[in-house]
Amino acid sequence: MSIVFVTPPPIKPSEPGLSAFAAAELVRRFGGRAHAVDASIGWHRFALDGDRLQATLAQVAQDPQFAKDVPAFRRAVRSVSAVRPLQAPATYRDRKVYTSAVNHLEQALRLASAPFPGIQVGIANYTAWHPSLRPESRAGLAVLSGTVQPFDAYFLEVLIPSIRASNVQQVGISVTFQMQAPAAFRLARLLRDELPGVQRILGGPLVACWLAAEMRCDGAPFDLFDRVIAGTDAELQQLAQPDADDPTWLRPPPTPLDDAPLSVALDQVEWAQYLAPRPTVPAVLGRGCYWRKCTFCPDHLHPRLQPCGQDGLEAWLHAIADRFPDGAMLHFTDSALPPAHLGRAAEVIRRDRLPLQWRGFVRVERAFADPEFARTLAEGGCAMLQLGVETGSPRILGLLGKGGGDPDLSRRVLRTLHHAGIRSYVYLLFGVPTETDADREATLRLVEDEADAIHALNLAILNLPRRSPMHRAPEQFGITEVLPFHDDTDLSLYDDFRCDGRHPRTEARRWLDHRFAKSAAVRRIGADFKSAFKEDHAWSL
Ligand code: SF4
Repeated sequence: MSIVFVTPPPIKPSEPGLSAFAAAELVRRFGGRAHAVDASIGWHRFALDGDRLQATLAQVAQDPQFAKDVPAFRRAVRSVSAVRPLQAPATYRDRKVYTSAVNHLEQALRLASAPFPGIQVGIANYTAWHPSLRPESRAGLAVLSGTVQPFDAYFLEVLIPSIRASNVQQVGISVTFQMQAPAAFRLARLLRDELPGVQRILGGPLVACWLAAEMRCDGAPFDLFDRVIAGTDAELQQLAQPDADDPTWLRPPPTPLDDAPLSVALDQVEWAQYLAPRPTVPAVLGRGCYWRKCTFCPDHLHPRLQPCGQDGLEAWLHAIADRFPDGAMLHFTDSALPPAHLGRAAEVIRRDRLPLQWRGFVRVERAFADPEFARTLAEGGCAMLQLGVETGSPRILGLLGKGGGDPDLSRRVLRTLHHAGIRSYVYLLFGVPTETDADREATLRLVEDEADAIHALNLAILNLPRRSPMHRAPEQFGITEVLPFHDDTDLSLYDDFRCDGRHPRTEARRWLDHRFAKSAAVRRIGADFKSAFKEDHAWSL
């Protein structure tokens, strides 16, 4: 019994969505027949087609509510359908040119969704204006699944016919981000109507989080699916089982790649469609996080890290280099990359002179403060590390369970990476329970002192993840009240909170606007980089 895994839109169109390909690869390793389709890039290609955009422009130009948008729409259509500047490396050499290209893409997507009142699709963004239509709500998704969407024409004219032609018996819809949920449920409904004999399975990282947080994933609209799964090994093995039992199915012989990082099938991806300066190959070095102790993170609910094998990693790096002799960027999507595996990847790339660069998310570990190790990483293709620095306050660092509680380690890591020539994309977290201005000032001091070593900043305000340690024992963190963001966000992974009547999130937001944003160093780091692609393009800017 064969299965196709589908990545629904919209995710950033700069690289293939990984989760559907990873699921297909795991089913194959368990002896099943599976392939994957990136329906997000498929939809972008369809929606951004020049003739289709021109036709939509002619339609909306008649509508007085879009009168002032028409010139911007016209420029956007020219940009995205003729020149495709986000595929040209030269665009990334000038931040103004780059920003203009991103704005054109946003406008073109806005135009593509203009005929659908109340719905707007952007770069990795989906907004339904009516408050009852939140993608974080079961009721909202039930309504959206029955609502004509900007994705319908692509689903009905391209995706579903291709699924029909491939003769699969099962379709797995793999959802990573909440903004994909409306398309996922809409696709399930259309599949039910168009291909009633095909089983529909809902899974992916977001669904695994819903299930781990014990959210209800049955009844409407989940009844559009035959099964809802977290994507555990046991579940994927079960999907592969009918093939393993089929004497006519010849399981491919084992290869070193059976132990490789989970990645995309190189020959199943339309590489020319992605909007990046060079092909970007996503991969995960291991499933799960090796730390699992951060108090604001629900990763402890998921299985322990299962890393790929070192030989599999080496064989995979060579396979990528063979496929992209002119170079590729590897995006390791692990939530915390194990330093030992990074060291190994870098050694192979350096030793065998592979034309590969890479980037990914790391914890602030002592290893990255070692100049020798940092040099190995840099010479082995490391272009940028995304660092979970979080805060400059030792007290808050301890509260967050980051280990050590030593912001000076962050400083040493930033300087060491900078000297080695590796860019640092620094992630900061504000609005933590009991946080004060003094804590926030310590973070600002860290940023100002190390500004020369910081390539870009990501500022987040804490949304309290459901079933994270902080959520499960709020009183231990000074939280006196946990409350939902809205009455109807029963599928939200996050809650709001108060500390003795104080609202740290609001206080932090105010401080960021009035103090942090005014710092000359902060402005220098981030003033001209505003892009929905964030880290996916920042490595090349
Ligand atoms: S925040 Fe990152 S490092 Fe910490 S437990 Fe979660 S995934 Fe792991």
